[in-house]
Amino acid sequence: MLKLYNTLTRTKEDFAPLKKNTVKMYTCGPTVYNHIHIGNYSTYLFSDLLKRYLNYTGYKVKDVMNITDVDDKTIKGSITAGKTLTDFTAQYEKMFYNDLKLINILPAKKNPRATRYIKQIVKFIKKLEENGYAYQTADGSVYFDISEFKTYGQLANLDNQNLKADAGGRMASDEYQKDNYGDFALWKAYTAADGDIKWKSPWGYGRPGWHIECSAMIMKLLGDQIDIHIGGEDLVFPHHQNEIAQTEAVTGKPFVKYWLHRAHLKVDDQKMSKSLGNFLLLNDLAKTKAGLMAFRYLIVTSHYRQPLNFTMDSLQAAAEGLNKVYHFIDRLTATRGDDSKIDETLNYLEENNRQFAAAMDDDLNTPQAIAALFSLINLLNKIIDQNLIGSKSVKLILKHLKKQDKVWAFIFSRKSLDPLFQRQIETLITERNTCRTKKDFTAADKIREQLLSMGVEIQDEGSDTKWSVK
Ligand code: AMP
Ligand code: ZN
Repeated sequence: MLKLYNTLTRTKEDFAPLKKNTVKMYTCGPTVYNHIHIGNYSTYLFSDLLKRYLNYTGYKVKDVMNITDVDDKTIKGSITAGKTLTDFTAQYEKMFYNDLKLINILPAKKNPRATRYIKQIVKFIKKLEENGYAYQTADGSVYFDISEFKTYGQLANLDNQNLKADAGGRMASDEYQKDNYGDFALWKAYTAADGDIKWKSPWGYGRPGWHIECSAMIMKLLGDQIDIHIGGEDLVFPHHQNEIAQTEAVTGKPFVKYWLHRAHLKVDDQKMSKSLGNFLLLNDLAKTKAGLMAFRYLIVTSHYRQPLNFTMDSLQAAAEGLNKVYHFIDRLTATRGDDSKIDETLNYLEENNRQFAAAMDDDLNTPQAIAALFSLINLLNKIIDQNLIGSKSVKLILKHLKKQDKVWAFIFSRKSLDPLFQRQIETLITERNTCRTKKDFTAADKIREQLLSMGVEIQDEGSDTKWSVK
């Protein structure tokens, strides 16, 4: 049974969704005011991994990742750039979707943009006012009164008694620290610094605070209660605490069953962030010899609750790990042994399935799951050495790996080809063309199949054969 570490209870809990078989999952998406850095992507890769594993184990996942296109940072950025908020944010949003494809992150079912949900946000704040949790200040802004919410601080393990005794300050800005908590803005009254970015509301012109955006979009798209909520660990407080307060103050029901947070990706032991200027983009990594699949491998095979210090050396080491897997597949698809060890091979595959599930069920213990894959590769390499893997076994092994790769999503996605692999493809194509000239089409088709199992598609154009990697 899958166990997940819940930030709310600080324990690993058995996973059981609210509704049998369907998992409602929400991930706090990017604020589109700048390029999205690889630290952000480490959180999205974690969310992708979990979603893929839930799919692998048979759950249907209904997932939403929002796009924050209005907040303090996007407004400031669009004004500085002299662009409308929509034009300014759309360019980063577009790059974001492109990036997701590059590292095999499956698209979410929905990517709502906050500016399209202003009506729901206003309705939400009105409800908070009616329920006695919100109040208006002289400038026309609306704040959430944290002293009214009895469990405020619980998610971040803050001492609720002290919190209430000290409460009273107000936080106008979207982001603030634990030791700086206070009532937070739900609706921010218009000021000249907002340019022409404003919406009409019962409290006058203004715009939503950041925290209320997620609460309102979740309620609209997923309902009052969801199974899993994900974000980077920096969001535990205040953002996620504020989401809980807002939603539960409206519904009176527990909002999220499992809160999951990814530890930070660090550089020189500091959080990678736009404000510190120590960030790297996928573009930077795409230019390295290691490449982007190595980045996916690095993040996905590290445990999500361990902070990871990113270095180019760690990326290179990941590339080497990945190349071992690739080379195994090349060896496997090139081997021409007999199938006399097929039973032993099958046992190894079944054992690997068990080890994979046991590791992943334990709070997505990917370091253990990848170690199990390498043990399998070692065992199979020994049988290949003895020339005892034939075409039937190859098919079974590839099927096994393809199934597991629905979760890893880096094995059959060789984006940049290493020269060895390229040479191997070309040799096979020459071999196949010789067969075709000799009209030995059975042999030619066999080679085509072999290429396909290596992820290579071919197309004959006269006597020439073009190939591409799927
Ligand atoms: P932002 O665009 O700053 O709102 O962040 C988008 C997502 O990336 C949030 O879930 C953050 O918690 C997460 N995030 C930001 N920086 C990092 C980092 N260095 N490591 C891991 N996740 C991060
Ligand atoms: Zn959020």
